Amino acid sequence: MIMEIKERLKNFLKQVPEDITLVAVSKTKPVELIKEAYDAGHRAFGENKAQELAEKKLQLPDDIAWHFIGHLQRNKVKYIAPFVTLVHAVDSLKLLHEINKQALNSNRVINCLLQFHIATEETKFGLNFEEASVLIENEDYHKMENIKICGVMGMATFTDDMELVRSEFRMLKGYFDRLKEKYFANDFQFKEISMGMSNDYEVAIEEGSTIIRIGTKIFGSREVTH
Ligand SMILES: *Cc1c(COP(=O)(O)O)cnc(C)c1O
Repeated sequence: MIMEIKERLKNFLKQVPEDITLVAVSKTKPVELIKEAYDAGHRAFGENKAQELAEKKLQLPDDIAWHFIGHLQRNKVKYIAPFVTLVHAVDSLKLLHEINKQALNSNRVINCLLQFHIATEETKFGLNFEEASVLIENEDYHKMENIKICGVMGMATFTDDMELVRSEFRMLKGYFDRLKEKYFANDFQFKEISMGMSNDYEVAIEEGSTIIRIGTKIFGSREVTH
């Protein structure tokens, strides 16, 4: 098992261009496995449950960059605000408000991505372009000094139809470009496009991803929990 994670990471990284950030998604996996990846030199990990993340953080080295990749409930922000590196899935002004508040409590600026709804599935969270514009143009947003919007995130439809997936990633890249031009033209920190998972990262990279979030391909399959 120990060699396995190390080997998988190494092999995976061979296919990933150097300027792309690989977030190893360790949700549901024990800290022992995360430690194996850490010992192989990896530092960026992703979790989607705030309390699980806070518990794992306590048991692992301090120089890990923890990414929060899932839907974040406002009452859970406090668990991760003191240390989280990037919150990938902000989809409301209310959530951003709470992140800003907790970041201030921790005397930090927390980096965030706006999550867009790009999939055909109804159930996935995320904004459309209009909603994102309304959020960014809101006065309250401009008063928030302890958050930083660094780009966009999205999840494609879960399907084998890679042309559909490609069109969705292309849509997300289009949203990024429009936001950049309209609101962030002089903001060098607005540069991230978080898209691509184990089954679609190759297409995501071709379509302009800067951060891929990979679980299964590194840690193996998870027990199905919904
Ligand atoms: C679980 C998860 C991933 C990783 O999925 P894999 O298919 O195992 O690579 C990526 N992003 C988000 C938001 C997730 O919830």
